[in-house]
Amino acid sequence: MSDLDQTLAAVKARLKAYDGPRMRIMEVCGSHTSAIVKNGIPGLLSPKIELVAGPGCPVCVTPTDYIDRLIALSKEKDTCVVTFGDLLRVPGSSGTLMQAKTAGGRAAMVYSPFDTLALAKAEPETTFVFAAVGFETTAPVYALLLDQILKEQIPNIRFLTAVKTMPPVIDALCAGGADVQGFIAPGHVAVVIGADAFKPLAEKVQLPFGVAGFTGRHLLAAIDGIVRARGRGVVMNFYPEAVAQGGNAKAQALVAKYFEPGDALWRGMGVIPGSGYYLKAAYRRYDAGSRALQHDRPMNAACRCGEVLKGTISPKDCPLFKTACTPLHPQGACMVSAEGNCLSVYNEN
Ligand code: SF4
Repeated sequence: MSDLDQTLAAVKARLKAYDGPRMRIMEVCGSHTSAIVKNGIPGLLSPKIELVAGPGCPVCVTPTDYIDRLIALSKEKDTCVVTFGDLLRVPGSSGTLMQAKTAGGRAAMVYSPFDTLALAKAEPETTFVFAAVGFETTAPVYALLLDQILKEQIPNIRFLTAVKTMPPVIDALCAGGADVQGFIAPGHVAVVIGADAFKPLAEKVQLPFGVAGFTGRHLLAAIDGIVRARGRGVVMNFYPEAVAQGGNAKAQALVAKYFEPGDALWRGMGVIPGSGYYLKAAYRRYDAGSRALQHDRPMNAACRCGEVLKGTISPKDCPLFKTACTPLHPQGACMVSAEGNCLSVYNEN
């Protein structure tokens, strides 16, 4: 057995035999949620260690007003919404973008934000509005796209942004009394902002954070580290091959060039101060009204995405789970994306 295998075996044995105080650990990254399910991690843990998914799926946290605005834009003359596939199926307050498209609205699905460039060049009389959702991970991509738009002087692309940032939402969860004793910090986000970006928060809330990658080994190491650091406000980097303590300075500079922080509306969670990125005033002519998002009324009033995203209930506690709400007929955003909290639990069973 290699040294690595021996270490992993010891970690597994420790986590299975754990008999200390109850530990509820939140993963705040949708990719972690799906990796945890795929690797069967909960079955490897003591009953005293519970994993709970948080607000880490970008599609899930996008409020209904954002979807409503995409729908309204898709119906405007000489306008086409450009989006990733998931957003087409997310319910707004009264329907989806896909339904609007079927009824005559214009929405184009792309695999890369850069596909918008070719669309805009081919149809200069149409305004293409890119639906820019995501976290710190995707903000540099949107900044690069704007960089290219400016270089090529393309006049007919706009952004409707709903880009959110992780430390403020974790802070808000803790301030709201979240029953959590540690966090698996998002690996992809940490690649950009760095492991150290979570230090002030860890010290403030006096909880351990483990930055993790996306294999079973990464996740088990992070959970083990968090359990062993219980009660201490520390950040441990279990993904050093990808995450530098200070993050990616080039990506940070690119984001800072075009974006500035601002308050943001989260699905089911309200407005969280300083938790969004918006285009700076100098680039506001490329914005399609991102700062005006105000309401968050779910299409189905019984949808409990907000509580699911805060980790206060399991998707199974939602009365619509697997009844009215299924992957084919999602009633809330958490049942749409492959990283969605409800879809992950649906796929588990
Ligand atoms: Fe919303 Fe469906 Fe999840 Fe219930 S199961 S919280 S309706 S997405």
